[in-house]
Amino acid sequence: MALSLRLRLGRPELGRYADRFGIPQAADGLGVTFLGVASLLIEDRTTAVLTDGFFSRPSLPRVALGRIAPDEARIDATLARAGIDRVAVVAPVHTHFDHAMDAAVVARRTGARLVGGTSVAQIGRGGGLPDDRIEVVVPGEPMTVGGFRLTWVEGEHCPPDRYPGAITAPVVPPVRTDAYRCGEAWSILVEHETGRSALVQGSAGFRPGALAGRRAEVAYLGIGQLGVQDDAYLEQYWAETVETVGARQVVLIHWDDFFRPLDRPLRALPYLGDDLDATMRVLTRLAERQGVGLHFPTVWHRENPWALLG
Ligand SMILES: [Zn+2]
Repeated sequence: MALSLRLRLGRPELGRYADRFGIPQAADGLGVTFLGVASLLIEDRTTAVLTDGFFSRPSLPRVALGRIAPDEARIDATLARAGIDRVAVVAPVHTHFDHAMDAAVVARRTGARLVGGTSVAQIGRGGGLPDDRIEVVVPGEPMTVGGFRLTWVEGEHCPPDRYPGAITAPVVPPVRTDAYRCGEAWSILVEHETGRSALVQGSAGFRPGALAGRRAEVAYLGIGQLGVQDDAYLEQYWAETVETVGARQVVLIHWDDFFRPLDRPLRALPYLGDDLDATMRVLTRLAERQGVGLHFPTVWHRENPWALLG
């Protein structure tokens, strides 16, 4: 509610956080490439796993007023620029358009299986993906994908969830934005045979205790809409994710303005929808107090966040 009363124009300046960019580049071995919002290409040169794969990034007027559909030219350009050829698994963190809209097309293009909850399966079906390329997970049960072990843990979406509920019929684009209901909101645990581990937390929501007993060295932490929550919410979110899994390095995701194409420089969401500066005030305090590293990923760069662990 406070959000609609705030008449602050403009957007946070990313340059304020310049010293938090620059995660070491991955040489060979395990690497993570940030591709906007919560899209992360996690690969070890043999096997690639892609969260979300959202590359169309339709404009705000289209999202608000029109019908949306995957933009195949933008998807192809992104896959080419990121050097993505084969992907084993496309794993949307939930099924809002800014995560899952392109998932069926990306899975089709890259030979991947589309994996997630029952809602993402409907996006796969609507997108013409054959049934044997769609897999509904058992929450909490690990799945082996090459050298990776992936575990989907169900959580909650950050309030307010503008399109709540499950998708119960195939989504055949073009559709209105509200066709992309939230579905299950996943925390995805990524464990690699080298012993490296990461948590991918797509939405800044949590279900108390859901991650108890899980461990991850690095947390890719979604911060979309965190800037409009109160401090107590941010502290609890951090406790239920970063602290619970014992992550020593945090990489922030879901802060870029996704109404702008990925081939233009990333900028923060405007104050009207979020407030990165407010988020950073709280997270910086928590990270410093707990001796946890706090970083931004650089789009298109293949990075090795585990190198930060020392
Ligand atoms: Zn969402």
